[in-house]
Order: sequence, then C-alpha cells, then structure tokens
Amino acid sequence: MDFKNKRFVTTGCLVMALALLASACSPGQQGQQTAEQPKPAEQEEQEAQTPAPAADAPQAEAPTFLASETPAELSIHLLYGGKPFDKTWPVFVRAAELTNVTLNGTIPPSMTDGKEAFNLMMTSGEISDIVMTNKDNFVRYGQEGAFLPLNEYMDHAPNLKKFFDEHPEVLSFATAPDGNLYWIPFVPDGNPAQGWFIRQDWLDKLDLKAPETIEDYYNVLKAFREQDPNGNGEKDEVPFFGVSGLWSVMELLPYWDSKGGFYAKDGKVYYGPNEPAFKTGMANIAKWYAEGLIDKEIFTRGGSGRDVLFGDNLGGSVHFWFGSTAAYNDKLKDTVPGFNLQVMAPPADVNGVKKEETKRDYVGTNGWGLSSKVANPEVAMKYFDFWFTEEGRRLENFGIEGVTYAMVDGKPKFMQELIDSGNVTNKLLEIGAQLQFGFHQDFEYEKQWLNPVAAKGIEMYDANNYYMEQFPKIIFTPEEQKVYDRVYPGIKTFVEETVQKWTLGAESVEEGYDAYHQRLKDLGVDELVAIHQSAYERAVK
Ligand code: CA
Repeated sequence: MDFKNKRFVTTGCLVMALALLASACSPGQQGQQTAEQPKPAEQEEQEAQTPAPAADAPQAEAPTFLASETPAELSIHLLYGGKPFDKTWPVFVRAAELTNVTLNGTIPPSMTDGKEAFNLMMTSGEISDIVMTNKDNFVRYGQEGAFLPLNEYMDHAPNLKKFFDEHPEVLSFATAPDGNLYWIPFVPDGNPAQGWFIRQDWLDKLDLKAPETIEDYYNVLKAFREQDPNGNGEKDEVPFFGVSGLWSVMELLPYWDSKGGFYAKDGKVYYGPNEPAFKTGMANIAKWYAEGLIDKEIFTRGGSGRDVLFGDNLGGSVHFWFGSTAAYNDKLKDTVPGFNLQVMAPPADVNGVKKEETKRDYVGTNGWGLSSKVANPEVAMKYFDFWFTEEGRRLENFGIEGVTYAMVDGKPKFMQELIDSGNVTNKLLEIGAQLQFGFHQDFEYEKQWLNPVAAKGIEMYDANNYYMEQFPKIIFTPEEQKVYDRVYPGIKTFVEETVQKWTLGAESVEEGYDAYHQRLKDLGVDELVAIHQSAYERAVK
C-alpha cells in the first residue's frame, strides 16, 4: 500500500475552540473538542503482534450487508482533509463489495476547499445523492427542502436506529428545529481531550513531588522559575505555557472555580466572565504572570510552543492534548538529555476538587445526508445503515483486514508496520478510513498507537472521572439567534481585551473590576445568558 504523507486538516471547530475565548462553532462549547491534532512525532514502538493470517479466521455464515439486490450507484459530494472523494479508496471498494452500492464522487480532484465546493453545488442546483457537510448547512438547506428527512426512512436503517436509541443525545443534537433529521453526524468516541503535563525530570532535580493542589502547583512553578532546573545558570525557565493563545490563560480559571465560557450548575446557566469567581481567577492569573510563572509570550505563542519551549529545554508545564504532548518524550529523547514529561492529575482547585475542563465531544458537527431528489432513498438509507453495523464500523475505523489490521482474539489490531510508520491517522485517511462522515468512531483505534505516557494518563483521568460536566449542544431559535448575533460579538471582544489587559498588568483587576462588570451589563450580558438558559432547557429536557 502506498503510505504517502498527507496533511491532516483538523475540524474548524477544534481550531476555533482552541483559539477563541468562546467557540464560534457552537456557542459556549469551548471545552469540548472533537479530535486530536496531527501527531507528526514518531510513536513509541509497541510490542510486536503476531496476528493470525486472515485466511485462518473461522468463516462464520456471512451476514448480508446488501443495500441493494442489484448493483446500484449513488453520487457523493465529499471533501475531507483537503481531498475530494476518490472511488478507488480501498475502504469504499470494500464497502461496495459488501453493500452492492458504488459511490461516484462529484467534486473535481483539483478542488481542496470544502466550503467552496459545497457553495458551488448549491448554486448549480444539482445536489449529489449523498452530501457530506456540516450541521448548519443540513439544518438550513434541509428546512428549505434540499435534503431528505431521513426520519421517514428509519425503518431501512435498523442499526442506525439502535444507535440512536442508545445515544438519544446524538439524535437530539442532529434533529432540526422543524423536527426532521436531515443528516447523520460523525460520532467521536472516548472521553479524553487534554490533560495537565509536568516536567518530571525538573521535579526530580529539585526534589519536588507532583503538585496535588493549586497551592502546590504555584509553589512548583515558582521553584521552576527560581531554582534553575535546566541547569544552565540562567533564570530562563518558562514554568507554565500554552499553545492556544488567549485560551491558554483561560484554562487556568477553573482552579479558582471560574470559567471562560458558559456552564450550567443545578439547571442554571452562567457565563463565567460575568461571575464573581472570574475576578478572583484573573487576579491570581495576573499575579502568576507578574511573577514570571506564565510565559511572557502566552498570547502570541502559536502552535509551535511545545517545539520551541520543550525543544530548548525551557518549558515546565503545559495543558494540551494527551497524545501529541506525550509524544515529545520520544521526539526530544536525543536532543534534550533526561527530558521526561509526565501527565499529572489536575491539581485540586481552591475548593479541593480535581477536575479537567476539556472532554472529547460526544457528537461531531460534520456528517452526511441525502438529496431530497435521490432516486432510491431506501437503498441510500440502507447504505448509511451499513456503517453502523459492526463490520462497517470496523472498516471505517481500522481500514482493510490483512492490510492495515488483523483480527487478534476477535479484535482488530493495527499492523505493526502501520504503527511504526508514526502517522496512523494520515495513512488511514489515504485509504478512506477515519473520514468524519456519519459513523461511530472507536477510541480503540487511537489507543493502539498512543505513547505509553499518554495511555497511562488517559487511564488515570478516565478511572477518576476528572471530567467536568460539559455544557450541552444547544440550538437557538431564530429569535434567540438574533439576540446572540447582536450581543455576543461585542461581549466576546470586550472580555478578550480585558483578559489580556489584566493578565499583562496594564490594569489592576481590583481597580478595574466594577467598571468591567457594569460594561458587561451594558453590552447585554443578561440577555445573552437568558437565551442560553432557554436553549439549555430545551437541550436537556
Ligand atoms: Ca535556567
């Protein structure tokens, strides 16, 4: 198989979530994230598997996955990771063998921009049988009649129906305000998104223990700053840093029981920057910054923060994705002697609670649906259903048996060669696996090639269930949306400016707080909270 390197484009929502105070993709969701970023680092070698050859597998009576008795063809509009659908992708060739349905891509191979491709199609009025796009497009154009209400064809999709019965929150998120289901979302799997990392080699050098509480964490960062753990005789250590700009500062807020976005407590919705704890949190963050515990360049430090600060042996602690961050242990083992980055439990907050703000999304914003003019909706629906069978789910998660994985003790295991290649996700994308259309991801697909430090950290976070309650996916009514569009941009900008001003010490939090809070009111924060409250109540009812 040809395993060329290919750029992996993360979902826009993830990028926004990391970059912004509050996500523009879905308001108030900035803690939730869909997928890990690309992992360019070589992965730790794992113990070699000795998979049984596929031919020896017992041939049970083959279940039928036929979506059509006679060979059928459907057109598809799909562009993912900068690449349009390619009918030679082995995963879709295999799916055609099993279902009797062959897909033909409608996006020219030269196109790389999904939004542009979608707009072109909608303008042309020739909508492909199957369309992959995002929730907003499905809801908008579905209600205008462009997409088929799939709920009317659910009898042809027993596996999908079973999945929705078991995951009603996914169905509820995908359902349009008019009550119809115009698309099937991509469904991520697993809990972990980001974790807290600390330099174990620096702790060892200074004879310190991993911090248990926020006071411990402050003291450890202080020691990193003052006691020259990198041993070069200079006070050049950057104790805490981030790679997500403004959000890297905001992610410290939960230690003072505050938050940068919307959250719910006992059925009531709050906007973190509008609550008193925000003042305490920001005052402490400003203090940390003034004492040199927070990266001076935290607001401008881009995605290369880990490369620069770990690579130069200057960075002490960071909060970011498990897999890609733990991989720095492998990346730097030859260039930073003794480099040892470990996951720590989140230090307990001011109330003694250990908690992790991020959690992987329970549903994605991309998926696929059907043109309202599709000639054979039953066949198309059965084809969608195939991807929710065990066979279809395995195909999209693990690729081709005997090529990318083998069955070991009844479970798919990636080929060692694939794991050793160091870029499993990209190589799967090249054969049509792990595209974010309507299927249920299997976290096992990531687990098998995670660095051991990441795997151990995830196990600890899962076992202790550190994850904070996530704000549900909400959908505004048109009236609420108008309020949101009028009020939110101004508030967002004002809060972002204030966070910077206070962190950098350009204004004292104590002196500026009352005027800040009044300005939030003037900008309409109460209206903003009220529409979130109504939408929240609909989402959780
Ligand atoms: Ca130093």
